[in-house]
Amino acid sequence: MTTAVAIVGAGLGGLALARVLHVHGVGAVVYEREPARGARGQGGMLDIHSGQAALREAGLIDGFRAIARGEGQDMRLLDSDGTLLLREDTPPDAPQARPEVDRADLRDLLLDSLPEGVVRWGRAFESAADGVLRLEGGGSARYDLLVGADGANSRVRPLLTPARPAHTGQHVVELGIPDADRTHPELAAMVGRGNYWVLGDGQSLGAQRNGDGRVRLYLSFYRTPADWITTCGVPFHDPEAAKARLLELFAGWDPRSTALIGACDDVVVPRAITALPVGLTWPSRPDTTLLGDAAHLMPPAGEGANLALLDGAALGRAVAGHRGDPGAAVAEYERGMFERSAAAARQSAQLQEAMAAPDAARRMLAFFQPG
Ligand SMILES: Cc1cc2nc3c(=O)[nH]c(=O)nc-3n(C[C@H](O)[C@H](O)[C@H](O)COP(=O)(O)OP(=O)(O)OC[C@H]3O[C@@H](n4cnc5c(N)ncnc54)[C@H](O)[C@@H]3O)c2cc1C
Repeated sequence: MTTAVAIVGAGLGGLALARVLHVHGVGAVVYEREPARGARGQGGMLDIHSGQAALREAGLIDGFRAIARGEGQDMRLLDSDGTLLLREDTPPDAPQARPEVDRADLRDLLLDSLPEGVVRWGRAFESAADGVLRLEGGGSARYDLLVGADGANSRVRPLLTPARPAHTGQHVVELGIPDADRTHPELAAMVGRGNYWVLGDGQSLGAQRNGDGRVRLYLSFYRTPADWITTCGVPFHDPEAAKARLLELFAGWDPRSTALIGACDDVVVPRAITALPVGLTWPSRPDTTLLGDAAHLMPPAGEGANLALLDGAALGRAVAGHRGDPGAAVAEYERGMFERSAAAARQSAQLQEAMAAPDAARRMLAFFQPG
């Protein structure tokens, strides 16, 4: 007996699940609200470490190695006065323990590994009851197992828990320097091949080399109120004025680092960082579950994409191992997922707390160089 699996969301977690099910000969349908694979920018680089086990299980580890950038593991850590605290350069023969990969490349690898028609583009989940899901704009489908892989603002989540993401006191403003090697070679060289972090009191500046030559900049503000985007005085609707104001907020920082802000183009995107409660669980239901950010959204600390991949692989394995008994598969999967995600959420919250501290640079140095 087969289980009809309906997956909501073609992010990394939903696609990893669909792929592992496919490897085990179990069919699934993925409903994705975006109209096509390239409809929305997929963001920057992801640091993939534990998630490599899921890609191996999905039969995609060689494809992953072909798109991963080992040199993206390079790191520079500085204090806001420009003092270099740590520099790590990856030797060419270093193991790819935490390579960086372009999010769009990784998503394409998963999408290309699925048979035509598994992903139904432009089909947004609206509601579900009694084994039938309904799609926005009309349409319905029967399922034995409904999987919410629909990210931070999951619409499947309320079927299992009233928990909602809450503001964590952090806001991130994302900017970028296109084709940095050509347009700003001295800044590109300063950032290097991987991650460049500058930490101050209540603020940080992170720069990251992307595979397409763009240097992506993340300006983090900690200890912020939930309405910071509208009350901080940065006119985000006017990119030039916004950059000028952001530079004022970084006054007193080493000008070599803040020159990165001045070099950015006019795409300035502010984001509130929200998270679900650490250690969130819910009473298991045999016909519905969640994975990835829908299940355990946490502050960005290099874990979310890895966990989404691991969740997808673990649920796929459980469904294949309990054919015709989705309740047993869900129970087995959720036991492992709750444990794994609670540990990662605790670690992410601790990292966020260290980044928010007045002595963030010293704390992060201790994190990277324990003892
Ligand atoms: C700035 C930033 C940097 C990050 N860096 C890293 C990193 O280096 N390493 C790391 O491990 N993690 C990182 N993360 C976290 C990581 O991006 C997420 O945890 C991960 O993408 C979650 O995957 P997911 O599949 O659960 O959800 P998503 O990737 O959010 O996918 C959800 C999908 O569901 C679709 N969807 C939503 N609603 C509906 C609906 N109603 N119907 C149908 N489809 C729907 C969406 O369109 C989307 O395609 C970072 C996050 C941020 C914000």
